[in-house]
Amino acid sequence: MASDDARTGVRTGVRNGAHIPQGAPALVQLHGVTKVYGSGEATVVALGGVDLRIDDGEFVAIMGPSGSGKSTCMNVIGCLDAPTSGSYLFRGVEVTQLSRNQRALLRRHYLGFVFQGYNLLARTTALENVEIPLIYRRQPIAERRQRAYEALAAVGLAGRANHTPGELSGGQQQRVAIARAIVTEPALLLADEPTGNLDSKLGHEILELLVRLNGERGITIAMVTHEPDMAAYARRLVRFHDGVIVGDERGALTAAVTG
Ligand code: ADP
Repeated sequence: MASDDARTGVRTGVRNGAHIPQGAPALVQLHGVTKVYGSGEATVVALGGVDLRIDDGEFVAIMGPSGSGKSTCMNVIGCLDAPTSGSYLFRGVEVTQLSRNQRALLRRHYLGFVFQGYNLLARTTALENVEIPLIYRRQPIAERRQRAYEALAAVGLAGRANHTPGELSGGQQQRVAIARAIVTEPALLLADEPTGNLDSKLGHEILELLVRLNGERGITIAMVTHEPDMAAYARRLVRFHDGVIVGDERGALTAAVTG
């Protein structure tokens, strides 16, 4: 049977017999991406032509007013939503031409998701929650358990493996959600307002964890946030307004996000 990589063509660089151009392709490359909802008078242009390149190892914060297209862009990058027009290359593979099944494989093998509301299964232990992505990958139970433990240890929750979400604080629940997102060793972690439900102290702890995962494990991170002091942890700040990118700054961001 063909491997998942061969089926999505992401790692092999070959899909349907077509060779991907030489050179290191960007992890994510959006070109002229639009997303239009509805029709006629009800038409909403959520994305009005977005060009965005994200390279391996980056930590990108995405800011912008409510309704400016941040979530829509994250959904496109996360293969949860298809653009209306434009090109999306993931490691050089044109995602818009993949089948639904191939996009699901790409999500499962290369992407991790963290949401504002944690999205954990309530009556399930932290360990079992973290194992879920590995069940989808059909990993044997012993290996699954070990990797889930390792991921929980990486977020500082080794001692809470058998607790259910109701027995954990909000900050701990978000750590479990991050462990679940990294247990598959994704190339790209997409975080949509990961600190939105947390107080400032816990928010800073989550960002310190994300910085560590980015630095030590080389996980590329794209994070939507409304909070300038959370965005300041990133090394690049992309700003959206009315469905387009209006700013893209790198380096020391403290001045950029508060200015
Ligand atoms: P943000 O994340 O910056 O708040 P969104 O990407 O959620 O912005 O939304 C961008 C625009 O697209 C908004 O005007 C929003 O109302 C609209 N929109 C988002 N999703 C849908 C949808 N499923 N149907 C119709 N309009 C949508």
